[in-house]
Amino acid sequence: MKADALGRKFNTLRLSLTNVCNLACLYCVHESDANSQTFLPTANEVQSQGKKILSVKQFVAVIKSLLRHTPLKTVRLTGGEPTLYKDLPELINALKKLGIPRVVLTTNGFLLKRKAAALKAAGLDGINFSLDAIDKEIFFKMSRRDKLEATLEGIDAALENGIKVKINSVIMKGVNDAQVLPLFDFAVSKNVVIRFIELMKMGHLYKGHNDYFFSEENILWTIAKKYDFQKKLRPTGSTANYWETREGYKFGIIANESSPFCSDCNRLRLDSFGNIYGCLSSNDGISILGCLDDDVQLEQRLQQALKQKQTTKFTGSDLSMKAIGG
Ligand code: SF4
Repeated sequence: MKADALGRKFNTLRLSLTNVCNLACLYCVHESDANSQTFLPTANEVQSQGKKILSVKQFVAVIKSLLRHTPLKTVRLTGGEPTLYKDLPELINALKKLGIPRVVLTTNGFLLKRKAAALKAAGLDGINFSLDAIDKEIFFKMSRRDKLEATLEGIDAALENGIKVKINSVIMKGVNDAQVLPLFDFAVSKNVVIRFIELMKMGHLYKGHNDYFFSEENILWTIAKKYDFQKKLRPTGSTANYWETREGYKFGIIANESSPFCSDCNRLRLDSFGNIYGCLSSNDGISILGCLDDDVQLEQRLQQALKQKQTTKFTGSDLSMKAIGG
């Protein structure tokens, strides 16, 4: 695959397995949709719109074709909520058999207590848990579901099964910013790396994002109340900046507003219907299902996706995080 003017190519695939979720997080789901269990169309409704979430066989066929054009080092499975995809272990196993070095998952985790062992056995290399509060009430305020305990049990189950765990926490001003230090201490107690995430201008927060914006500087200032820390070098292609405390504990911040990371972005996104996106700022999905065996056309579509990338920073999108998995 030909690189773009900034030398960027795709070697990380973020694969959205479903656009359905079992939480209704404030930054992802508009108030008006919060009370429906799964606010997006059910599988049947999706079918009735002529769209069908891809099967394991279809996802594998797509990824095999992509591998002829670009060496994918990492496939990150996202959603909606990827643990709702019923053949998840089979898919992980199939991707490992394709030789993908790292197959990892981003999940809200509250189904992990009963799924962790099977995911580990399938070959899963790591899990990022979305955890925006360690306080029961604030967790409910952020996710609109009473699932804190189940999520913590999910984290313990993953650790007990020897799966590498990280925690991702989206911080919203006036909602859960007081949870920065409690979440930090929780991660220290579990000896897992936490990454705080600046709120993104996506979906219903494409407008009005500023009301809740809590910056990288605000987060660092909060952590500095208790910890001394030094900045680390950002690994190439990483979305997070990292710091290390005097005690030797590493943490990160994904600051798409304050410290954009477009210059070496290597991420390609694939949604659950076979459309690719070169950039989160674009909501123009490019279908590739019709050209999996046509390398000329597939290369053209990949170049089209690469052209969607920003050169400096994320500009936002009205696409829902659930449709593309962030
Ligand atoms: S905004 Fe686009 S180019 Fe920038 S980091 Fe995100 S996906 Fe990559």
